Amino acid sequence: MTNNRPDEAAGSGSVKARTQGLAAEGAAILPRLGSLFEIALQIERAGSRDEIFEVVRSEAKWLLKYDVCLLGIANRSASHYVITTLSPVADSADLNHKHFSMDEGMLGWVIKNQASIIEGAGSGPAFSHVIEGKLKEFGVASFLIVPMKTGTEVVGSLLFGSTMSDVYTEEDAAVAQLFAHHVGTSLKHVSVFEDARKRITQIELINEVSGELTGTLNLEELLHLAAATIQKNFNYFDVTIFLLSENGEHLSLEAHAGSFVDFLPHGYRQKVGDGFIGWVVKHGERVLANDVSQDPRYLAYEYHSTKSELSLPITVDGEVIGVLNVEDTKLHAFDDTDAVVLGSLCDQLGSAIKNARLYDEINRAYMKMTELDKLKSEFLGIVSHDFRSPLSSIMLAGRSLLKNEALQNVPRGKEYMQLIVDQAVRLNQLAEDTLSITKMESGQLTYYFKIVNIERLIQDAVSMVKFSSRHLFEYTVDPNAMFIKGDQAKLRQVLQNLVSNAVKYSPKGGKITITVTNDSAEQIMISVADQGIGIPQEKVSKLFQKFSRVDTAEAKEIKGAGLGLWICREIVEAHGGKIWIESELGAGTTMKVVMKKAQQ
Ligand code: ATP
Ligand code: MG
Repeated sequence: MTNNRPDEAAGSGSVKARTQGLAAEGAAILPRLGSLFEIALQIERAGSRDEIFEVVRSEAKWLLKYDVCLLGIANRSASHYVITTLSPVADSADLNHKHFSMDEGMLGWVIKNQASIIEGAGSGPAFSHVIEGKLKEFGVASFLIVPMKTGTEVVGSLLFGSTMSDVYTEEDAAVAQLFAHHVGTSLKHVSVFEDARKRITQIELINEVSGELTGTLNLEELLHLAAATIQKNFNYFDVTIFLLSENGEHLSLEAHAGSFVDFLPHGYRQKVGDGFIGWVVKHGERVLANDVSQDPRYLAYEYHSTKSELSLPITVDGEVIGVLNVEDTKLHAFDDTDAVVLGSLCDQLGSAIKNARLYDEINRAYMKMTELDKLKSEFLGIVSHDFRSPLSSIMLAGRSLLKNEALQNVPRGKEYMQLIVDQAVRLNQLAEDTLSITKMESGQLTYYFKIVNIERLIQDAVSMVKFSSRHLFEYTVDPNAMFIKGDQAKLRQVLQNLVSNAVKYSPKGGKITITVTNDSAEQIMISVADQGIGIPQEKVSKLFQKFSRVDTAEAKEIKGAGLGLWICREIVEAHGGKIWIESELGAGTTMKVVMKKAQQ
């Protein structure tokens, strides 16, 4: 055979010059290897797949005579190959980017068997595949197909075709094999580099999507955001998210983004076990289908033109709770990298869904509690209010009976009557406190501010307990710290609480000292000090909470509800002031209040 070099003046000058010279000398192998060497250098310098293809397009003709040139590039799992056409005739045969199974056609055979084919018009294995068929339609009569090897791996195959019969020789095959080796190796390098770059971009995108996912705790919003950002960031054709129903029987469509959005209605349901998504839930594994028509698990919809689909389980604590699904109208749209990337996003989506569900639960429990708390407050308000009139009658009647001489004649009559009055007073105080608390909590308590004389309030508080307590009272008020602006009745309540605590929690005969001083130019300080049982240090900060009491045996013997200090703090803080405790166990307690002075 003769190597008829193309006459046109295309290609790089040096390669062309050398080959033109050599063409005259016939088919000597050495000069062809020289050209190959130069073309190989150009291929090595190419930085991308497209640049490699461009070199093949423009330079391969200096090595071999052909009318058609195309590549079959194997996918990662070597189950399929995709065609890249590299000559004008091949371009017009409508084969570019088409996928074929490795069992189809001569290109697949060469990849699988790692062997070359030289086929003349009547020789070689009989292939009737669409690729050869198409090429024959264009008048191709001879084929030379060589594997693209890199080491032991075959990354694809390279086809040359000529309209002349029996044109290719063993020597052509040897040259084509060397050429294919260079092309294959460079494609491999570029693809490793592109893979690394793609991976970095993907990691960045994953970060971006997961950042978005932590932004909301509302489940519905979260799922829509997830579908939309995954679709947008990874440029998928269609993304759907399904969640498993509570009884575990159905999957319902919760979020949808992409080109099929109008097809499936929101709330669309599919039975577990049906179709890809149903299979994923049942088996807890992903489905990657690059030609859905070949997969018996696929559930076809008339209105869908899906060709590829990738479905992944979304799990929470090892249980599948839903499915993330991506679809495309192209064959072979997804690969393992997509599955890995989306798998990692599914993990994050699972935790985000878990958090959103927990938040929802807590929120609902909180709403319920608030509602119950409101009902309880209303109930307490009504009860304590209605307690007050009968209690006042009991106290009044009891006090008048105590003064009645006739009671002397009843055995232990006075003692019992005093007990009735004392307990009614306690109950009345409790009703008052409960009413104050319910009003404070519901924001119904109104404060009436005016200039208040603190000394007078102290006198009132002391006189309430003085005769029954048998304590020693001492109080000093700095004349410059005598007035504050506040609600008189409520401030009286504060002082009464503090003084009554000092009395309650210190032994009879103990001294109670009340002082009012200037804390600063704007503030006064009221302190109520006793020489009583004191408070354990660890309890001090807790006593302003409702129902909080010291639980030592000594303190527990003294009756009280644990509400007084809570009320005191509410009132003091409503006046812009502060209240705190200084205490030493066994030595005594000082309650301190700081409040703003009235502007004179
Ligand atoms: P009440 O609601 O009738 O006032 P209470 O006196 O028990 O009941 P608080 O006034 O809120 O409730 O006081 C809370 C707890 O703080 C008391 O139970 C007591 O243990 C402790 N406490 C308060 N004042 C003193 C004090 N001066 N000395 C020792 N312990 C005190
Ligand atoms: Mg008290």
